[in-house]
Amino acid sequence: MREGTRPLPVSHPNPTTLVISRPVPAGEQVVVSMNWRLLLPHGTGLRMKGGGYSVRLGSFFPLLAWDGNAWALDPPTKLPSAEAWTTPIADFDVRITQQSARLRVLASGQQVGVGKWRAQAVRDFTLALGRFKLVRGTAHVPAPVGVTVAVEPVPGAKSARVFLRRAIVSLERYSALYGPYPWHTYTVVGMADLTGLTGGLEYPTLVYQPAASENVPHETAHQWFYSLVGNDQARDPWLDEGLATWTEAAVNGAPPFTDATIPPEVANKIGEPMSFWDQFDPRRYFLGAYLQTYRALLSLGPRPQVDCALRLYAVRNAYRIVQPRDLLDALQTFFPDAEQKLKAYGARF
Ligand SMILES: [Zn+2]
Repeated sequence: MREGTRPLPVSHPNPTTLVISRPVPAGEQVVVSMNWRLLLPHGTGLRMKGGGYSVRLGSFFPLLAWDGNAWALDPPTKLPSAEAWTTPIADFDVRITQQSARLRVLASGQQVGVGKWRAQAVRDFTLALGRFKLVRGTAHVPAPVGVTVAVEPVPGAKSARVFLRRAIVSLERYSALYGPYPWHTYTVVGMADLTGLTGGLEYPTLVYQPAASENVPHETAHQWFYSLVGNDQARDPWLDEGLATWTEAAVNGAPPFTDATIPPEVANKIGEPMSFWDQFDPRRYFLGAYLQTYRALLSLGPRPQVDCALRLYAVRNAYRIVQPRDLLDALQTFFPDAEQKLKAYGARF
């Protein structure tokens, strides 16, 4: 770790935290740099995959864990496909070299030259490399957004055209509801090793799905709630997962397991952090955080009014990292009793 050519002292208090001992007074700018090397897993590692004919790099480089006010030092989650990171918006210029020209690269942002990618105003950067069946289309939000779908051609894989159609419908619908999708590209990558994953893996402007199943509307909803409006996903998972579940219902008609009974141990706990959900299986996390947030929002009033409030929330908080209070402020504009109703479901402000 360096500042210019000067080495900086660092420590590793745990496997996912790197502390740079360089105090920075408010208002001072500092540029630090580091070299690092990543050893890929031989097979699937969920966020990262090596081996076979494809590579997936998600959550693979050190991120600045700054929430706009303080360091976001929440522990990682034990639930395998859940998220616990918080990162500010940044611009990424990435140079990618590969030994085999036959493998295709899909990445956040857009390709701007041979082996050069640029992603602007995003919280994270991901890329996949492999042999894919590719289809392209355009969403009109109303400005054109280039949509790319890449699916590993394995037995049982869904048609790339299905992913494409669902991506375009979702982008156009959510843009009408919550404000236009602000980036120029959107990419869906269907990968064979993700079979068995319920849902997908969301990154800014690029989401992963299992090759054989899809819920593109849910992952696309995260482009507004997580990617555009950021939040501390460890402390307030309901702000990204709950709002994405609400949003996907605008395309799917209803969230998954919409009539399910909520188990008492996760009832009225929507405001709990990942350290609480860690003690449960993914289904109870889904029912307690995702589905109950959907029901909590539905309890406020008619869906179009809730959508209006969420549009206000998105416009006010685009590119920021919010607290639950920011959501409440927008909802109270339309529903004066929002605080009491959401608290009944376990929200904390
Ligand atoms: Zn999600």
